[in-house]
Amino acid sequence: MGGAAVLPARTAAVVAHAAGDLRIEDMPVAVPRPDEALIEVAFGGICGSDLHYWMHGAAGESVLRAPMILGHEIVGTVIRAAADGSGPGAGTAVAVHPATPGPGAARYPEDRPNLSPGCTYLGSAARYPHTNGAFSRYAALPARMLRPLPAGLELRTAALAEPAAVAWHAVSRAGKVAGKTALVIGSGPIGSLAVAVLKRAGARRIVAVDMHDRPLEIARAVGADEVLKADDAEAIEAVEADVVIESSGNHHGLASAIKGAVRGGTVVMVGLLPTGMQPVPISLAITRELQLRGSFRFNDEIDEVIAALADGSLAVDPVVTHTFPVDQGLEAFGVARNSAESGKVLLDFRPAPE
Ligand SMILES: [Zn+2]
Repeated sequence: MGGAAVLPARTAAVVAHAAGDLRIEDMPVAVPRPDEALIEVAFGGICGSDLHYWMHGAAGESVLRAPMILGHEIVGTVIRAAADGSGPGAGTAVAVHPATPGPGAARYPEDRPNLSPGCTYLGSAARYPHTNGAFSRYAALPARMLRPLPAGLELRTAALAEPAAVAWHAVSRAGKVAGKTALVIGSGPIGSLAVAVLKRAGARRIVAVDMHDRPLEIARAVGADEVLKADDAEAIEAVEADVVIESSGNHHGLASAIKGAVRGGTVVMVGLLPTGMQPVPISLAITRELQLRGSFRFNDEIDEVIAALADGSLAVDPVVTHTFPVDQGLEAFGVARNSAESGKVLLDFRPAPE
């Protein structure tokens, strides 16, 4: 795993230039600042936001104004520890917490830094200059972002730590789920990971919904008791879920989430809707006294996720459907975009075996 003497000068990276313009580029390896470690990246998961930068040149209101390295779902091995002595030493396998809370003065709950204004995230164009991601063979990352992996936790499994933390945070926003009926709208990677988290948390009955068969198979494999097609409105309403996780990110999904909730139930919205007005049957949320709760990224939940992945109590392997070497990154993005056929798609940054 990278002797200290062998430091490369250049590295392959996945760079979004503009809508429809994604390139695998040969770039100089970043020189770490004193508080940064150099990571030999093993795997990187392709996220919805990465796909949006590629397809639309923007993810929500974050618009690309300059080329940006994508990627925030990263695992790898430290090959050079931070010079200031902080963080894990060379040879440590790590996952990455991609957020840097912002210095903004606006008010937010102190214990919820994910809500801090001005928060930056790896591979995000929310600020300018953009925050480069870590889809590259070698990445210089702040040592405070690094989370050492327990012995025995495979890097490939740990590659799901970041999206699983998003799902974990969403489920925790619902409150107690043990013994309850849960409905998950949208069974892409975040939805399927929410199913796995609900299962681990002791939900009594978990119903997963999607438009396509493949994601529903994945949801079943990680713990859904029943699956429904998204157009089966009657069946969705009949679920009468105590807890609904909306992870589709479109208004039809949110409408189903509201209709599928039992009176007095809770709907957690984690799928990011487009900005602007959304037509949803909100009056039902009033007369049924539903609790609608937003869920955005996560905080220290990633530590609980890593522990649960390591002890096997959070079983998520079926969520990964494809792995491509970084040289085939463009093909990987094409597969990831097809949500009818793929779950989580990983890029493999390790050098090909000779
Ligand atoms: Zn992600």
